Amino acid sequence: MKNRLFVSVALILFARHGYAQTQTQAQDPDEARIADVVTASHILANEGILDSFGHVSTRSVKNPDHMFMPRAMAPALVTRADIVEVDISKNCSAVAPNAPRLNGERFIHCRVYAANPELQSVIHSHDLAVIPFGIANVPLEPVVAQAGFLPAETPLFEVRDAYPPDATKRGVQVTNAKLGDALATKLGKNPAVLMARHGETVVGKSVREATVRALYIHIDAKAQFAGMQLNPHITPIDGPELAVNAKENFDSDRPWQNYLSHLHGAEEQHPEQ
Ligand SMILES: [Zn+2]
Repeated sequence: MKNRLFVSVALILFARHGYAQTQTQAQDPDEARIADVVTASHILANEGILDSFGHVSTRSVKNPDHMFMPRAMAPALVTRADIVEVDISKNCSAVAPNAPRLNGERFIHCRVYAANPELQSVIHSHDLAVIPFGIANVPLEPVVAQAGFLPAETPLFEVRDAYPPDATKRGVQVTNAKLGDALATKLGKNPAVLMARHGETVVGKSVREATVRALYIHIDAKAQFAGMQLNPHITPIDGPELAVNAKENFDSDRPWQNYLSHLHGAEEQHPEQ
């Protein structure tokens, strides 16, 4: 009896909380985007694209000079309470004075948003499927139809080029605005930029579009890598095919829902995580 009462109360509380959350998201466009940042972090961690590091962000609808991104933590564990509002224009710092510690590489997000007012989401990952291309001097090419949003060759950011040639100390990560600007320049208007010895940065006009792009870049990189084991002279998607793909409106919602179902399946199998 006690157990049944507990379950009933828990169900009522859950229903109320869920309803309230849905109402908040419906009323506040930033909350809807933030909910997608949390979900995208979980999806990309579940698919092995985000590891202990890497991050998803979104621009604020209400204040386009602000963005939302998780505090410095593992993406798989991100919740709404971990999302920090960051001022893009003021040296990429948190809006709240007592905000938790932010990711050192937040400058990737701030400088890409600053250079591209149309972009609404940025994802930075250390995708193991992509990293080999940035160290082997092999361009990443579109080789599967769903990655037809990629250019014939995805640009590669060489962080060493952003330092003086005679520098005796330099980092691999993008930890300041100057490096962020160099990365944004290399990205240009492309959907993604590879980062030598590091990973990639993927952008989109929504969190869902950027997430689905990261998922298909992952698949594309694996397919190209596998194809080159069979024959180094692969046949990628060509110019006329890319010309059609670029005009197609890529429906992000279908793969988003599909990968969400993977995530829910994983949660059912491992409820404690
Ligand atoms: Zn990184």
